[in-house]
Amino acid sequence: DWEKLVRKSASTRSPSRGVRVLVTGAAGFVGTHVSIALKRRGDGVVGIDNFNKYYDASLKRARQDLLKESGVFVVEGDINNAVLMGKLFELVRFTHVMHLAAQAGVRYAMENPSSYVHSNIAGLVNVFEVCKSANPQPAIVWASSSSVYGLNRKVPFSEKDRTDQPASLYAATKKAGEEIAHTYNHIYGLSITGLRFFTVYGPWGRPDMAYFFFTKDILKGKTIPIFEGPKHSSVARDFTYIDDIVKGCLGALDTAGKSTGTGGKKKGSAQLRVFNLGNTSPVPVSKLVNILEKLLKVKAKKVKLPMPTNGDVLFTHANISLAKRELGYKPTTDLQTGLKKFVSWYMDYYSLPRGKSAR
Ligand code: NAD
Repeated sequence: DWEKLVRKSASTRSPSRGVRVLVTGAAGFVGTHVSIALKRRGDGVVGIDNFNKYYDASLKRARQDLLKESGVFVVEGDINNAVLMGKLFELVRFTHVMHLAAQAGVRYAMENPSSYVHSNIAGLVNVFEVCKSANPQPAIVWASSSSVYGLNRKVPFSEKDRTDQPASLYAATKKAGEEIAHTYNHIYGLSITGLRFFTVYGPWGRPDMAYFFFTKDILKGKTIPIFEGPKHSSVARDFTYIDDIVKGCLGALDTAGKSTGTGGKKKGSAQLRVFNLGNTSPVPVSKLVNILEKLLKVKAKKVKLPMPTNGDVLFTHANISLAKRELGYKPTTDLQTGLKKFVSWYMDYYSLPRGKSAR
């Protein structure tokens, strides 16, 4: 039965370390990679995911198979289900929660705003509620987003920069999450670390993201839109490879808990932290397409269009010195290398012949 599977999945290879992590959004892109990395190093891991249909559900099922092979059990359910979440904490004394479940995507927020409120605000509050009442209280690491920098134009973005001008409802819900984290830390002494991910890409990635659908459309011979900013300025992203993000997540988890007394916080007090996890080297989208063309050996059909006002920002660029110092975070994969790995996965996953156009 499922309770047995949960307990088994939560068992750790190193009882003395005793790390048991509940990963929300475990069948998601980042959740899959983080869960497998934790399991591989011997930690207990239980996943929860509602397998929503925001993008290709069969990809989530395929990730679930991968997780199963790695010994990670994913409970199918919603983080808003307080009874189910409470039950998981009855079954397992989780030491950490890696909260990655969310309604992602910037543009979809205009189509389905309530799904963002449901998962990113109500869902987040429910996760914090369950953690607050758990004994012992787990340390929480959760995914915020670079999108909180919004209309900020001062680059690179550092954690102290203003985040009061979100450009999309998605960004606003992530920003709200950071404020809610403050209240749960303040009132209930929860230790909470927010990670502002910058455009994560790689194998098992998200089909709604540009690098993914560009690959698909280039192979199909479909014209791809390349958005430009004012005066034909290029749109750029600080693309960050998934393995680097995973290392950042594990670094955050390993340093999470009661304060060690650095950074002006009293020793033993509950942490409230936020870190940029980026790559510190923004790449124009046109360059992303050039790399994909070379890897796919297909010339892309492109059309340049002015960027619509639909929530996307012109550029992102992370300052990562804080994560370097506190988490030992050090990204090592450049876009060329990371995309090569993505394309190789893509060709295998969709059983496409390598080095040829797959029309
Ligand atoms: P993803 O959509 O692949 O993963 C999220 C998972 O959460 C999905 O599998 C989804 O089914 C699940 N989920 C959503 N709502 C849920 C709910 N109410 N209950 C249970 N499960 C639910 O996205 P991802 O790229 O893996 O992102 C992981 C986290 O990182 C998200 O919080 C996202 O907002 C954040 N983030 C991602 C990026 C990126 O570039 N990928 C950038 C910044 C922030």
